[in-house]
Amino acid sequence: MKEALKAARSAAAWGASAQGGGLQIPGLESWGRLRHGLSLRPWNVSYTAGEEYGSPADGRAQLCESVGVDPAKTVVAGQVHGRRVAWIGPEHAHRHALQRGTALPETDGLATATPGVGCLITAADCPPVVLWDSKTPALAVLHCGWRGTAAEIVREGVRALIAHAGTHPRDLHAAIGPGIGPCCYEVGPEVLERVPRDWRRSVIAMPARACEGKPKLHLGAWLTHQLASEGISPERIVNSPWCTGCRTDLFYSHRIERGRCGRFGLLAAIAE
Ligand SMILES: [Zn+2]
Repeated sequence: MKEALKAARSAAAWGASAQGGGLQIPGLESWGRLRHGLSLRPWNVSYTAGEEYGSPADGRAQLCESVGVDPAKTVVAGQVHGRRVAWIGPEHAHRHALQRGTALPETDGLATATPGVGCLITAADCPPVVLWDSKTPALAVLHCGWRGTAAEIVREGVRALIAHAGTHPRDLHAAIGPGIGPCCYEVGPEVLERVPRDWRRSVIAMPARACEGKPKLHLGAWLTHQLASEGISPERIVNSPWCTGCRTDLFYSHRIERGRCGRFGLLAAIAE
């Protein structure tokens, strides 16, 4: 962790900001009561990825400490590349994230208006997205691989905030966390056909010649289109500067590491 943090700190051009052992997405410092952090290698925060990549209890404890959230009050999404967003209330505040088997099953998004409750997404290429309504306040964290993005989990996240917190989309900020970038993410037709026609030019990079490989997907651009179409102002959408495929010194990449890797985490909470 220390060496990875050193690398992140030295990469001033990346705009990295490291506080108390975790990495933060640049630009979110001004988001009022939002607290968030990313865990870095060698920490692993997933029980399902395999404990040989590092103790998930240790990784989660470290991340919770860096964000200033009680791990006993932290909820983890079980994640199945679906679109279900769970509304997290005080009744979820005893999920004990450090213990095995406490993740919410069949859930790829967590939304809450309860201060002090941590919401944790695990990832290794799929960008975690944060939605933040500073007025209410309320937040959502979403696991956005291509399947979840195609299933419009972003829309489910915005709807959860509207339904449960009375959020108005014009008050929302959004951040797209580290994920595999268009530099590294070759995809097949089953993915390409899910991208709406109007967005394809900015979301899909076609090779100039057949010998230059497959088309590449820009998940961040796809998510940006979706967030904007939900009424979030484009100047309120922050893209984190890291491609997980290029930065396996900081994060895990399922694609580049051929499925043999741990998971990094994005934890967010409303300050108490
Ligand atoms: Zn890359």
